[in-house]
Amino acid sequence: MRRVAAANHVSGEGLRELLGVRMLKRTPIAALIEPLSIVTGFEESVLCLALPEFGPGAVTNEHGHFGRPLTQQKRSLERPACRRCVHAAGIQGPVHRWTTHEQNVCLRHRLWIGQGCTVPGDQVDISMLPSTSRAQRHHQNLIRRHGRRWVRDAFSGARSAFLGLVEGHFADPFGIIGEAQLHLRDVGGQPAPSSTTLGILFHPQIVTLTGLLANPEWAWRARQSGHIGWLAAEVTHRDILVGYAPKENDPLVQWVEGHLLHRRFVAAYGYKLHDVFFPEETVRPSPPPRAPSGS
Ligand SMILES: [Zn+2]
Repeated sequence: MRRVAAANHVSGEGLRELLGVRMLKRTPIAALIEPLSIVTGFEESVLCLALPEFGPGAVTNEHGHFGRPLTQQKRSLERPACRRCVHAAGIQGPVHRWTTHEQNVCLRHRLWIGQGCTVPGDQVDISMLPSTSRAQRHHQNLIRRHGRRWVRDAFSGARSAFLGLVEGHFADPFGIIGEAQLHLRDVGGQPAPSSTTLGILFHPQIVTLTGLLANPEWAWRARQSGHIGWLAAEVTHRDILVGYAPKENDPLVQWVEGHLLHRRFVAAYGYKLHDVFFPEETVRPSPPPRAPSGS
């Protein structure tokens, strides 16, 4: 609405007045669809797909609407769009957009657009890290294989657990962070903060750990054996963190404990409550019961 107003040299309020739309506190955002469709010339159905504000809600089976960001929620992700894509589209000035958790790399421009980017200038060129770009595709495949609900939860757990393990036990003796910061610079030539640098550098390991945690096999084996030996061994076998030995209260063990409690809660009260607690991205309705599958 603001962009349409700016293009026509009127204020947002002025445009709404011209269109005869009064936005009061309780006016639903959907009241804007019809007038916006008239002034932009886009069909209402196209606007609903382009602007997640007009989407059907958190749980949907409507084609084109699942796997979309949810807007204006506490946990919704709003990040600047890839500054090179914006530039290529001939748009002056930054574009902020609602986004989903797996959008961390612009594959066209090899630019990190994920965690740590609050303004377009924070986006870091990662063309020297092809494995970080490959991890973006791996991440999308994981969502197709395991479902967005589980991958989204597993990714935030995997990221904080992995970075917690690395930061807690690693004083950068080989100068890995320092070396990476020499190359990973933002638009002003400044190095990214060390947690962002670690997140970019170890994105492949974090995504691999996400796949391991999103697959119910580890939880099934933990229930059978009463310990997480299999999960810990896989962390080494999959080259996530070689030699990982679980310790009481390490970040991964804490995540595992929280997750098992959470699953018990979901089993007792159903997925509906789960979706109420984690309204970040649109997901399909309740999935069928999950059985362990090959990874
Ligand atoms: Zn781009």
